[in-house]
Amino acid sequence: MSQVARVPTTRSERRVAVVGAGFGGLAAALRLQAAGIPTTLFEALETPGGRAGVVRTQGFTFDTGPTVITAPSCFEELFAVSGKPLRDLVELRPVEPFYRVQWADGERFDYGGDADALETEIGRLAPDDLDGYRRFLNHSRQVFDAGYPLVAHPFLRITDMLRVAPQLVRLRADRSVYHAVARYVADERLRQVLSFHSLLIGGNPFEASSIYTLIHFLEQSEGVHYVQGGTWRLAHAIADRFVDLGGALALGTPVRRIDVSSDGAHRITTDHDSHRFDAVVSNADVWHTYSALYADDRRAAVVRRRLSRAQWSNSLFLVYFGADRRWPDLAHHTILLADRYRGLLHEIFHGNALPEDFSLYLHAPSVSDSSVAPPGCSAFYALCPVPHLGNASIDWDEQAPRLADRILASLEGILPGLRSHIVVRQVFTPDDFERRLAAPHGAAFSLAPNLLQSAWFRPHNRDPRIPGLYLVGAGTHPGAGLPGVVNSAKATVDTLLGDWS
Ligand SMILES: Cc1cc2nc3c(=O)[nH]c(=O)nc-3n(C[C@H](O)[C@H](O)[C@H](O)COP(=O)(O)OP(=O)(O)OC[C@H]3O[C@@H](n4cnc5c(N)ncnc54)[C@H](O)[C@@H]3O)c2cc1C
Repeated sequence: MSQVARVPTTRSERRVAVVGAGFGGLAAALRLQAAGIPTTLFEALETPGGRAGVVRTQGFTFDTGPTVITAPSCFEELFAVSGKPLRDLVELRPVEPFYRVQWADGERFDYGGDADALETEIGRLAPDDLDGYRRFLNHSRQVFDAGYPLVAHPFLRITDMLRVAPQLVRLRADRSVYHAVARYVADERLRQVLSFHSLLIGGNPFEASSIYTLIHFLEQSEGVHYVQGGTWRLAHAIADRFVDLGGALALGTPVRRIDVSSDGAHRITTDHDSHRFDAVVSNADVWHTYSALYADDRRAAVVRRRLSRAQWSNSLFLVYFGADRRWPDLAHHTILLADRYRGLLHEIFHGNALPEDFSLYLHAPSVSDSSVAPPGCSAFYALCPVPHLGNASIDWDEQAPRLADRILASLEGILPGLRSHIVVRQVFTPDDFERRLAAPHGAAFSLAPNLLQSAWFRPHNRDPRIPGLYLVGAGTHPGAGLPGVVNSAKATVDTLLGDWS
């Protein structure tokens, strides 16, 4: 008698695999499990979080990736869906100022959520732009009202795009973030303060769609927060909640390939065994999903061809370092801008070599959290945007120690005597993004968030050709950043549940 595979019919009989435990994969797995769907989460690394990893050494704790929580409400909603309030599991603390922006000549600007203090700072830096700033804030609110509801809305059909097209035209989404800001304020430094945000999600302010000016209003309305202990704790809290609800978490288990059988089942192969699932939600980078996981599926070739012409975000060079002293008057987040803005950004996004100069983001969590360093000590990381490996073939084994030395030397400007107090130092290079996180060209934020790579133009939350394949994370809609990938999980899981209902 021939064996006929039984097609599962009810939700609790059907099983889903999530590949990758970055924030997008974690949030998707938690939502699926909370909806009663038995879910298995496969993660290649030994810990959950993906880019939001942790390095613990000699009493120091370093977040490896995201440090700025801009939309706590999306995490509150995620935990509420799982049946437990976020506040019972992790502590989110407001950070003020949100960022200190400092230029090479020592001028600095504290950018925060206190409207009066912010206007005082603008009045000091660029008094003629106060009125323009108020109009920019109003513009940012309008973009937020029109654009933010779309972040958890999957763009699966061209009609989804056509429906919002008039709004995008009205908001001039074709303009870049910088050009939108420049319509309201004239001072070059204030333009930088109001436009650097798209860098947090891998977008060149001169190219990323002006839709991202909504970040300004988002920050002003929800604040900027820090996860007590580090962002990695939030990732672990989602993973723990997923397991509490009965989800299966397979850490240290890279998925090697996925084959779709004639009955539509997805067979996942790891180093040890293979498992059959009714659907797959891939949180691996989109390129890895289509070129490695579904390598033998001819339907994946269409996407591979498109992605081979895509523009990838920049990469990053990171130095995590601990010092045996503390410094007064330091901000939790400092953006150190070089003399060049547009020219340096052009070299980072399009150049074929390591630029001579650099801008930095300095994370100083010890300012708000004594648990991340031994008593009297400070934990830091310095983040330097650099070209991705597809544009610039830099020998990172050779360059990394030199660049780290130059970065630490330059930081002596705000951390006097730093180098003689460093007790721990580690780097993370574009090669590490490529090797450890399967990121194409070592791109830190997957596909660049340009208009023609956003919404319907971005790889869809549900693959249009391979039934049962869904995407979540930075490479699908709406894009990178923690609010982006957590909202992508909502869009993706709602789509999957809709398909199954
Ligand atoms: C240094 C840095 C700082 C950042 N700072 C901020 C910030 O302050 N605020 C903010 O909002 N955003 C920030 N971002 C962006 C944000 O961190 C990312 O966009 C987001 O974390 C990406 O999440 P993701 O769901 O796409 O998954 P990722 O974090 O990319 O995780 C994907 C996971 O898939 C796993 N995987 C891949 N292939 C396989 C396979 N075959 N089998 C099993 N597992 C696999 C990987 O190991 C990885 O764990 C930062 C990013 C970086 C790199």
